[in-house]
Amino acid sequence: MGQGVVDDTINEITRKVTAPGTQVFTEGSSGYKDGVKHWLKSSYEPSAYVIQPGSAKDLSEIIKILAEKKTPFAVKCGGHIACPKFSSTDGIQIYLSRLTNKHYDSTSQTLTVGAGCLWDEVYGYMEQFKQNVVGGDHNKGVGIGGYLLGGGFSLKTNQFGLGIDNIVGMEVVLPSGLIVEAKADGQYADLFFALKGGGNNFGIVTQFTLNTHPQGKVYGGILVYNNPDEFPKVLAATTKFATESKDKKAAIETAIDYTLKEGTLKPTCAVNCYYDDTKPTTDPFSEFVTIVPHDGKLQEKEHLALTRKLQGIWYLSSSKQNDDSDSEMRDEVYGHGRWGSISVTKYNQALIDAVATEAKNSSEVLAANKGLTAHYNLWPFLPTIYDHSSGGAWPHDKGYPYTPLLVYYLWEEDADDKFWIKHMKDAIKRIHDVAIAQGCSKADAPIYCNITLEDTPVSDIYRGNLERLKSIRAMYDPGRVMDLAGGFKI
Ligand SMILES: Cc1cc2nc3c(=O)[nH]c(=O)nc-3n(C[C@H](O)[C@H](O)[C@H](O)COP(=O)(O)OP(=O)(O)OC[C@H]3O[C@@H](n4cnc5c(N)ncnc54)[C@H](O)[C@@H]3O)c2cc1C
Repeated sequence: MGQGVVDDTINEITRKVTAPGTQVFTEGSSGYKDGVKHWLKSSYEPSAYVIQPGSAKDLSEIIKILAEKKTPFAVKCGGHIACPKFSSTDGIQIYLSRLTNKHYDSTSQTLTVGAGCLWDEVYGYMEQFKQNVVGGDHNKGVGIGGYLLGGGFSLKTNQFGLGIDNIVGMEVVLPSGLIVEAKADGQYADLFFALKGGGNNFGIVTQFTLNTHPQGKVYGGILVYNNPDEFPKVLAATTKFATESKDKKAAIETAIDYTLKEGTLKPTCAVNCYYDDTKPTTDPFSEFVTIVPHDGKLQEKEHLALTRKLQGIWYLSSSKQNDDSDSEMRDEVYGHGRWGSISVTKYNQALIDAVATEAKNSSEVLAANKGLTAHYNLWPFLPTIYDHSSGGAWPHDKGYPYTPLLVYYLWEEDADDKFWIKHMKDAIKRIHDVAIAQGCSKADAPIYCNITLEDTPVSDIYRGNLERLKSIRAMYDPGRVMDLAGGFKI
């Protein structure tokens, strides 16, 4: 794409929409730096310009001009997607950071929130009402936009389903520039269905209305084990929790992580424990607590304070992970990386052992291939999680409780992309084979689009919903304007 086209596009945009509501930033400004920043270095791309739209109305003008001039663009909320070019571009970067309105309606117990918000600020806002949303990870900077348009697994999913099951309505700027309100019923019910997991294929969402649920103090924390001799005990306790826990308020994530730090391999196992209430009489995490030595302790805290601690699971080689203060962690990770996943319906010891073996085997090739981290994350859920599914683009039906088993690798340079992406794919396939053989997955399990490699076929994500989604896309984006932005294209 020529620079002339982009310059022409931005000139037209600045003629139609003006500061301070909407602002255009050029390289070197802080607005530009914020706009192009991503969680992973490999998801970053220098764009020609950054725009921070101030309203849906301005965004409507912007999208009409982008469509007319066929100028590549990207839409970014929190910038946490690991797939390159999904929320970055060499064209025009739309950064939703000004769309941060929040209003809690105590009568309907719903929150209406601008699509540029991050989960941290949403949780912080909701504390005063003692209500909360089904939101995303406890990591500083995960955006509500990408998370909610992909599906949304939460520490509260056992109780209330996915993030998309808790959306009541969405304000959307369609590729034509029309601003509409999509809801479960009415004229835009098909659009509502498609947006729930359909990513950025159908337009740009500017506002979500979400159901909320009562929120009191919570109990939990992160337990970190650095001695590999203890790992089998932690994994056995994970299997026990995954197969025996019935309490919807209890959730764990177990990470097996090998990180090279200053040339030394640091093996770590860590368990995030979250109980959505004060400590119960029988501690659901007692098996983990009794494994010593470990760092970290389980405490009662406010939801946001506790979940801030849990973000340490992504920074296990960092000295801050056992820090007992509530200080915020960094929101950028050094290095190139990817996330991948397989979808499982349950865990057993053979599957968990296979994951541990893959992690260990990867650790042995980190040093020779400029690898930094091999991280596997087991996130067991109850088989009932989709009993109250409200449907959506991403298939999540009652009786088919597919959830992602996460694979996350980091390495130093793009020169090593080829090696590590192939390494990840091979490992993912071997784990999936074990999961199928163990009755924990199926060959046609839908892959979770928020945590998978960029070349995952859309048919593997949307499965039986794909044809319906294609016809909805043809209706709302006949000119395929949204193909000018990266993502999984339906
Ligand atoms: C540290 C970390 C923790 C995570 N934890 C969880 C978790 O607990 N549960 C879970 O399910 N996932 C989790 N994820 C995955 C996360 O859901 C995805 O990375 C998600 O895409 C992040 O959303 P974002 O807004 O930050 O991403 P972005 O990179 O800003 O956007 C991702 C995609 O969504 C599109 N998009 C964003 N906003 C809009 C909008 N308003 N309208 C149209 N398109 C839009 C973008 O164009 C892009 O294609 C985690 C990821 C990280 C890095």
